[in-house]
Formats: sequence, C-alpha cells, structure tokens
Amino acid sequence: MVEVRGARKSYGNFEVLKGIDLSVERGQIVAIIGPSGSGKSTLLRSINHLETLNAGEIWLDGVQVNQPLKGRAFERHINGVRQQMGMVFQHFNLFPHMTVRDNITKGPIVLKGMGRDEADALAAQLLAKVGLADKIDSYPSRLSGGQKQRVAIARALAMKPKVMLFDEATSALDPELVDEVNAVMKQLAAEHMTMIIVTHEMRFASEVADRVLFMDGGAVVEEGQPSTLFTAPTHERTRAFLKKYL
Ligand code: ATP
Ligand code: MG
Repeated sequence: MVEVRGARKSYGNFEVLKGIDLSVERGQIVAIIGPSGSGKSTLLRSINHLETLNAGEIWLDGVQVNQPLKGRAFERHINGVRQQMGMVFQHFNLFPHMTVRDNITKGPIVLKGMGRDEADALAAQLLAKVGLADKIDSYPSRLSGGQKQRVAIARALAMKPKVMLFDEATSALDPELVDEVNAVMKQLAAEHMTMIIVTHEMRFASEVADRVLFMDGGAVVEEGQPSTLFTAPTHERTRAFLKKYL
C-alpha cells in the first residue's frame, strides 16, 4: 500500500534521511519509534510530500507520489494523492472558526463534491465512531485536547483515506486524555485501517503495531515484530533507546 524506496533528504549539508526503505502492506500497522531528531516526522511528511525528497521514491497503492511532474500537473497529481492519505499531527490543526461538523464535511464537500446531506450524515457517523456525537455543533475552542484530536481523526477519515499517518498524535495531550485517542486508533487498527504511527509510547506501539521500526540518525536501525523488538532488540542503539522507556 505504501512503499518508500531509498528516501534521502537533506537540509543544507545535514542529511536527515539517509536512504530509508519501508513497505507497508494493506491493513498493516507500522509504528516508528526513535530519538528526537532521528527523522521520524521528516519521513512521515515525505510520504505525503509535505517534504520533498532529494532522492528516492514514494509509492501509494501503485502510484508514485513524488512523480517528476512540473507545475500545475504536479499540483493536480499531489492533491489527488493527498486525498487518499489522512494525516494527524501532534497539534490538532482544526479550523477554529468552523464547527466540528464543518471541520469534517469541508473536505468531502469541497474536494470530492459530496452533497451537504450526505456529508452531514457522514460527519454524524464518524463522530459517533470517535465518541463525540454530541459535539457536532461545537467549536474547537470548546473541546478538550483529546476531543480535538478525535475530531481531527474523524476529519481525516471523512476523506476515506487508503492510509492514515499519525505523527505523535497524543504527545501534546495531558496524560489522562491520551487513552481516549489511543482507543480510537486501536479501533481503526481492529478495522484493518492501514496506518503508520510515529509515537513515543512504547506500550501503545507494542499493543497496536504489526511491525515496529526503530530509527536513529536518519536511518532504520532495526525493525521487527513488537514482541521481538521490544523484548530482544539486536542492536545496541535500540537497546540503549528502549532502556530509557522501561
Ligand atoms: P522528534 O521526536 O523530536 O519529533 P523527529 O524524529 O520527528 O524528532 P525530525 O523532525 O524529522 O525528527 O527532524 C530530523 C532532523 O531534521 C532534526 O535534526 C531537525 O532539526 C532537522 N530538521 C527538520 N526540519 C528541518 C528544516 N525545515 N530545516 C532544517 N532542519 C530541519
Ligand atoms: Mg517528530
């Protein structure tokens, strides 16, 4: 479903991604862990072309994301691709001047031409799914951090994405709000949503992921099933990193 091949990215002389390969099958859940500055966010942002790679290829469901198109042709292409990827960031970037309903329906209406009634019904259904049916008319400023983040997930889901990308979706939340967001992500996992999850929560990663990647210094140092990687990491750098969390 998602293929990253030889991804390289530099800022000036500083190479942030040093040739990353990653393959995520349909329905798979991959967690990416690693120290601050190891390139996790850069990799995730490269997947939907919020960052432009210096070398390498990104593929989504058989279509190259970073195609060598120019100008308007590339814009059309990338807008189409981005509709198929839901992204949830650390800081809930809801539109503050819109109700929860409008936050969720804007994408389907504007980008997909969905009718208002259908979009409203979809918003209601997705809000029920994330446990916020009663907040449909609220403005984001009236929501807790965990509620905002659940709306952000519902908004991403409204585009019926092929994959969901999460970049530390819970790390800006008060601890007591983390579980309600993780529960939604676990539910998506149970429904076999394809997901790439950058997280600092090792317990959550071990519970939800089919595969865990440990990144350090812009490279994938080690990857494996959570049961293996968390209990018997083979690489010294992985061991040193995990020690801080255990
Ligand atoms: P964290 O766990 O703190 O979120 P990360 O693994 O997500 O870290 P990235 O945000 O991908 O790390 O950053 C990787 C490196 O690239 C860091 O050293 C960062 O300072 C650098 N970097 C990221 N964005 C830019 C930029 N726009 N210009 C210059 N350097 C950048
Ligand atoms: Mg990051």
